[in-house]
Amino acid sequence: MQFHPEKCRIPDEPNKPFISSEEIWDYINNTKSTPERVHEIIQKSLDKNRLTMEETAVLVNTTDPKLVEEIKEGARELKRRIYGNRIVLFAPLYVGNYCVNNCSYCGFRSSNKEQVRTTLTDEELVRNVEALEDDGQKRLILVYGESPKYSPEYIAHTVKVTYATKKGKGSIRRVNINAAPLDVEGFRTVKEAGIGTYQIFQETYCPEIYNEYHPINTKKGDYNYRLTAMDRAQQAGIDDNGLGILFGLYDWRYEVLAMIRHTNHLEACFNVGPHTISFPRIKDASGLSIDKKYFVDDDTFEKIIAIFRLAVPYTGMILTAREDAEFRAKAIEYGISQIDGGTNLQIGDYKYHHEEEEKNSDKQEDQNLHREQFKIGDDRTLGEIIDKLLDHDFIPSFCTACYRLGRTGEHFMEFSVPGFIKRYCTPNAILTLSEYLVDYATPEVAAKGWKCIENNFKNVDPKFLDELKSRIERIKQGERDLYF
Ligand code: SAM
Ligand code: SF4
Repeated sequence: MQFHPEKCRIPDEPNKPFISSEEIWDYINNTKSTPERVHEIIQKSLDKNRLTMEETAVLVNTTDPKLVEEIKEGARELKRRIYGNRIVLFAPLYVGNYCVNNCSYCGFRSSNKEQVRTTLTDEELVRNVEALEDDGQKRLILVYGESPKYSPEYIAHTVKVTYATKKGKGSIRRVNINAAPLDVEGFRTVKEAGIGTYQIFQETYCPEIYNEYHPINTKKGDYNYRLTAMDRAQQAGIDDNGLGILFGLYDWRYEVLAMIRHTNHLEACFNVGPHTISFPRIKDASGLSIDKKYFVDDDTFEKIIAIFRLAVPYTGMILTAREDAEFRAKAIEYGISQIDGGTNLQIGDYKYHHEEEEKNSDKQEDQNLHREQFKIGDDRTLGEIIDKLLDHDFIPSFCTACYRLGRTGEHFMEFSVPGFIKRYCTPNAILTLSEYLVDYATPEVAAKGWKCIENNFKNVDPKFLDELKSRIERIKQGERDLYF
């Protein structure tokens, strides 16, 4: 087939679908990977440039193991250079699992009669948030099924309740949401409640496969309405948006290029690309029986993460507890910048889990998939995850400074403002870690943490080091929520 990208490319306009399968397959079928091209492209990314669809396709089509290693090495280098060594931590909090949709991969699908349906009452929500604060969490993502029960007003209400819940020295400073797509008015309502990121996954960008997994007579069956959700969120003023696709539904090469296309669309229409990109991979769920033809193995998944790191160097990259500890440890080396910790998907269970922990300090029981969306691979506590991150010279961070100071949307900032990481991100990671060490850490973790902080003073802009040290002292004296 002759390659005519100019012919099949759909012009970018807000609220208009922008995926052309023909264009994407043209890139996959007609782009060749050579060592010279791969080297050039890695260098372009190391020079802090976004990659085009064609350049991303070269990386996607690279199969020579030596070159794939070079792609991973490039991603590792870029991550170290641009992002430093901080890893942002958060926890998911499922608010309700009623769902009108019937996505065949999901434990919450409406046809799954084994799923026990529930929505947190305000009191339960408060107790769960308190339990999360008691663990040291500062950033949450609230997750909802799709149901008339979860109107924009209800979602906004739960966000406000979460922010208002404060226990001891604890507080939640950033509430992100993962909820079904809304109209512009609905997005305005949740924006007014003060949400951080609005996250939604397209699941698959292939319209035909999308229709197979999301029956056309369900709300989620409208591919275009979901595809244009971020446009409406932007129009409502939500400029931190999180993209993702569910790896395993369709050919990963197509999905990677389509998500780059989505990124291009957002940049073209709103001058703001995705704040984050998530990498969910299908996991077992209650009564799950789906075709494994497109499942992605670990090696390929690593390559996908590395390609995204290089292709969209400014975006935050999230890998959740769906994946096991070993895989997550590898992925944070060459791409992932945010992970969840202390994750418990059972609705309302943070409270019970936490109370039981106090009684007998046992680990979380086995998951009950009839009460949860899917199986997780990493059930370590937040403390255990922080301990491991410190062992590997990462700074665990709960930073929420940019969003609170209005530094949103233009996330090219971290990337393009010289010294941004040294001036803001590293000091803020250190300040939030200091709070954690004083308020929640075991003596062993605290000792490692203070050592990590000492070691990282060299990574802070010397002009701000004295001020940073003085703020750490103020935290030790009891002040909280200090940031640059
Ligand atoms: N109900 C809303 C929706 O579908 O947009 C909110 C999101 S849903 C609660 C969160 C995400 O979990 C989905 O977008 C999907 O990608 C992912 N998910 C569903 N089933 C999964 C499974 N079996 N394994 C891994 N991730 C899954
Ligand atoms: Fe419902 Fe979301 Fe699960 Fe689909 S993925 S069944 S919409 S909760």
